[in-house]
Amino acid sequence: MLPLNDITPSWTLFLDRDGVINYEKQADYIHTWEEFRFYEGVLEAMRIFTPRFGQIVVVTNQKGVGKGLTKLADLEEIHTNMKAAVEDAGGRIDAIYFCSDLEDTSPGRKPNPGMGLQAAKDIPSIDLSKAIMVGNTSSDMQFGRNLGVYTVFLPTTRPEVDLNDERIDAVFPSLLAFAQAVEKVEG
Ligand SMILES: [Mg+2]
Repeated sequence: MLPLNDITPSWTLFLDRDGVINYEKQADYIHTWEEFRFYEGVLEAMRIFTPRFGQIVVVTNQKGVGKGLTKLADLEEIHTNMKAAVEDAGGRIDAIYFCSDLEDTSPGRKPNPGMGLQAAKDIPSIDLSKAIMVGNTSSDMQFGRNLGVYTVFLPTTRPEVDLNDERIDAVFPSLLAFAQAVEKVEG
């Protein structure tokens, strides 16, 4: 179970990108900033999270880069602009990790925990016993388990996922709904 009441600014929030922060494309990758669309309420959610989490880290598989379908420069532009838009709205993203590897055995490719372990190595204030992974796929939930952190599932794109899956600690309809729940327990 997710200990919502225990969250303090010593906690870390890991966020998947596509299907959590922005709309996924049906069976395709987001190739350019022009194709990137924030979900409704996400900028507000990021503003709510910002004072409540010490670190906010995006972890995203981007196989399209490895396949040569998305240009690395375009991915970097997406991330620069995404971060700037969040900041303009009063929020914060501290770090963004992506994995462009194609092989499911790659330690960096979710559900393997490489990106989270790298973040914890790069940012010493990250305490994995006080961290939450938010995602929209079973792979994200498995990543959370592999990393040893709590998990929040957003059923935005995968209606087939069993919400009672033991890898899911909590379910919210959107990132904003989760943010509002975090906001509510305070004080
Ligand atoms: Mg996703």
